[in-house]
Amino acid sequence: MAIQIPTRLLFIDGEWREPVLKKRIPVINPASEEIIGSVPAATAEDVELAVEAARRALARNKGRDWAFASGAVRAKYLRAIAAKITERKSELAKLEAIDCGKPLDEAAWDVDDVAGCFEYYADLAEGLDAQQKASISLPMEQFKSHVLKEPIGVVGLITPWNYPLLMATWKVAPALAAGCAAILKPSELASVTCLELADVCREVGLPPGVLNILTGLGHEAGAPLASHPHVDKIAFTGSTITGSKIMTAAAQLVKPVSLELGGKSPIVVFDDVDIDKAAEWTAFGVFWTNGQICSATSRLIIHENIAAEFLDRLVKWIKNIKISDPLEEGCRLGPVVSGGQYEKILKFISTAKSEGATVLSGGARPEHLKKGFFIEPTIITDVTTSMQIWTEEVFGPVLCVKTFSSEDEALELANDTQYGLGAAVISKDLERCERVSKALQAGIVWINCSQPCFCQAPWGGNKRSGFGRELGKWGLDNYLSVKQVTQYVSDEPWGWYKSPSKL
Ligand code: NAD
Repeated sequence: MAIQIPTRLLFIDGEWREPVLKKRIPVINPASEEIIGSVPAATAEDVELAVEAARRALARNKGRDWAFASGAVRAKYLRAIAAKITERKSELAKLEAIDCGKPLDEAAWDVDDVAGCFEYYADLAEGLDAQQKASISLPMEQFKSHVLKEPIGVVGLITPWNYPLLMATWKVAPALAAGCAAILKPSELASVTCLELADVCREVGLPPGVLNILTGLGHEAGAPLASHPHVDKIAFTGSTITGSKIMTAAAQLVKPVSLELGGKSPIVVFDDVDIDKAAEWTAFGVFWTNGQICSATSRLIIHENIAAEFLDRLVKWIKNIKISDPLEEGCRLGPVVSGGQYEKILKFISTAKSEGATVLSGGARPEHLKKGFFIEPTIITDVTTSMQIWTEEVFGPVLCVKTFSSEDEALELANDTQYGLGAAVISKDLERCERVSKALQAGIVWINCSQPCFCQAPWGGNKRSGFGRELGKWGLDNYLSVKQVTQYVSDEPWGWYKSPSKL
């Protein structure tokens, strides 16, 4: 019998609510292609209700003044959410695995990260109390000035499907820590665990309206959220094309946005490396999460001196990757998220072949898996810089390869992209690594590894990978506005105009 997911409604104003138009979206397990349940489909009508609830949650003196509560009070809720998530770890990991196809071990890792992220922003919420009223020294002694860091207000959070609960948490945790009220719109392709987050918030008694969760389609629920006049900011993670649409909608209202978009990140491997270590990081950098990572280092730039030996070793490493149902023990590569993504990725591979590239390894469905959206880890060589496989984000388990002979050439190839999210450099020469990391055009650079990510360190891209930074204290700043308060403290009159009392 197929595994079923819990049947949930939308989460608005602290309650489960049926979508106004009563629509639902089927949920398909990508490993079996079976329908395992459905999620509610919000529309503009539900967005309206959620925005009203969020505004009420911020209204002063109405008993729901989340924005005016101290950071310490908000921290208490964030820690309670973290604790509940940890308590429900194995159930959440399983739901994540069957909803988006990621191996169970990875999903469990994500759930730990989710709890850690709520804990981290609980600490930062408390720290915010101490930063309030920071004074500014002024050149005129008649004045004194201080700064208040205030929540931006009601924020719309629109997220993708590759790390459904974690990407939502990267936004929800700092937004709530800052004192904002939020409306989360996860991806229609995987939003099951986000509805469980709603259940967690209900269980810990998060005040009504502070977090509203609307599952639904991009154009039906995401678009009305992005263009809503009473939503004060949009934080978006997703494709560059949708990011551009959101920016256009927000521009009409001069609404701030932060955008975490796509990538085509390079990994540069020099000829002084330990081949096995470098090969494992290269594989991990592109095949972790079934290759569906915004920062996947999907362009291997390898020194020509070791290219043949390295690729030979890399193929051996990837032949060892266990491809299976994500719930099977030891699984390291599951299916891609949907039939649409499966077709799209295979099309990328066939276009590469038709443009003259060679599929060195993989390139098709694994023979032992007859059902599910599985694609073998794939390596493509004989690539030119004008090929689609070199320039466009595949968002699947596909690595393309080019060789170099000098550091300058490696950097030229690495930076030859419209994107600027991640980049990795592998070499035993740490001075070189440092030099290269400065020259790489990316928001995140890994040295002698690829992909590890910590909620304490800033995350975000340059160029068409977006702008703004999530995580760390930068993530909190995304949801804060800075207010200057200046006071005249002199007993003397200001004295600019002639006083009528002296006439
Ligand atoms: P997507 O752009 O298709 O969808 C992202 C979200 O936007 C979904 O919730 C979707 O419903 C919503 N949406 C779609 N159209 C909309 C519209 N017109 N208005 C408002 N919302 C709309 O992206 P995806 O396929 O879910 O995710 C994959 C992409 O996300 C990849 O490009 C990947 O690189 C990127 N990504 C980036 C990061 C990062 O940190 N930079 C992290 C994860 C994923």
